[in-house]
Amino acid sequence: QVRTRFAPSPTGFIHLGNIRSALYPWAFARATKGVFVLRIEDTDVERSSQEAVDVIVEGMRWLGLGHDEGPFYQMQRMDRYKEVLSNMRSQGLVYPCYMSTAELDALRERQMAAKEKPRYDGTWRPEDGKVLPPVPEGVLPVLRFRTPKGGSVVWDDKVKGRIEISNDELDDLVVARPDGTPTYNFCVVVDDIDMKITHVIRGDDHVNNTPRQIHVFRALGQEPPVYAHLPTVLNEQGEKMSKRHGAKPVTQYRDEGYLADAVVNYLARLGWSHGDDEIFSREQLVEWFDLDHLGRSAGQFDEAKLRWVNAQHMKRCDNAELAGLVAEQLARIGITAEADGRLAALCALFKDRCSTTVELADWLSIYFRDVQPTDEDRAAHLGDAVRPALASLAQRLERLAAWDTASIAQALKDTLAEFKLKMPQLAVPVRVAVCGRAQTPSVDAVLSLFDKKSAIERLRRV
Ligand code: GLU
Repeated sequence: QVRTRFAPSPTGFIHLGNIRSALYPWAFARATKGVFVLRIEDTDVERSSQEAVDVIVEGMRWLGLGHDEGPFYQMQRMDRYKEVLSNMRSQGLVYPCYMSTAELDALRERQMAAKEKPRYDGTWRPEDGKVLPPVPEGVLPVLRFRTPKGGSVVWDDKVKGRIEISNDELDDLVVARPDGTPTYNFCVVVDDIDMKITHVIRGDDHVNNTPRQIHVFRALGQEPPVYAHLPTVLNEQGEKMSKRHGAKPVTQYRDEGYLADAVVNYLARLGWSHGDDEIFSREQLVEWFDLDHLGRSAGQFDEAKLRWVNAQHMKRCDNAELAGLVAEQLARIGITAEADGRLAALCALFKDRCSTTVELADWLSIYFRDVQPTDEDRAAHLGDAVRPALASLAQRLERLAAWDTASIAQALKDTLAEFKLKMPQLAVPVRVAVCGRAQTPSVDAVLSLFDKKSAIERLRRV
């Protein structure tokens, strides 16, 4: 059974680039009827916070990327890491190294001067027949992992293809600090083993960690998982997407009127493809998702494209569901509206001209609070010539027995005939008078969703 994980470090809010690293393992787990694990990598105690965890979980919940197991917190697994370390120590897989920071710095400087890659030189690594230096007094050692000598590490990355790193490039990794706390690369492996992770799908900023992690897997008698290292997500300026470069928290897209399914669709396409399909549902994504069609090049965020994808999803969205989302947006601008059948009908009528639910709420606000035509619109569309026609229309509307699209259309037609006008000559002034805008969907439909009395009032007062 496939088991994937998302392993964020809760050191800040989560942006679209980060959440894509949750989306793919989620989609792969769903596609394979596997298990998706959430693991919080909170060992950087200084920078981690519960608040950041909450924001991650909220973003995932909004996007519907539910986890099956977890969240597991690394800080709560310290005893487990220490237990594994002590077993490794007794097996000689790790060894204490007493080299001080000053000595390490001096070594590094010598190596840099000789144009060598700075790396630990193995001073404290026990070897057959080697005499180790005397243990200095009062120095707490770090623990280092005995990286195999000679040969190389190879893996077939699902995105990058075959990667081979010579073991001579890797020095002996520090797995525990002087105070005994385990280091990041070590914890990740213990977790991936204990959580039985079969596929590690993560950002390619971790590629350099992978050979080290693979060695630790093997030292612990385990075969490493399948790796898929995702290319970076770039922002619109072509920089790596980051908080520092103005990336927004994921949940801000919800506030700005994007649908979760649209964001999921957009992010899925930003690094994975299914033929030429641009617009797909969550169900289709789960049906189609695989690791073989992950892209190799960096995806660049494009807000205009996201808006377009969102508009497509709004068109397809069930109107009752959309009404619920629009009611939330209306509330943000101080309008209390029931997400009822009328709001659903309004969504159906206006959604085609909107890219976000914020825009839709802005349109629908004309039904919930008074609007006045602008001076320009008054001057352009509400001149003296058209007023008698508007007055006559108001009278006809008043007399209507039924307040529906067909009856209103008839009243409009009769008024056109009476004043020998063409439809736009009457429809535009009606729109400006009632909606405060010169362009709207079909005017009979627009009027029918107003309360009869207020529509007529708005006509009369101009
Ligand atoms: N915690 C790491 C990060 O946020 C992810 C580690 C991993 O996926 O192995 O970048």
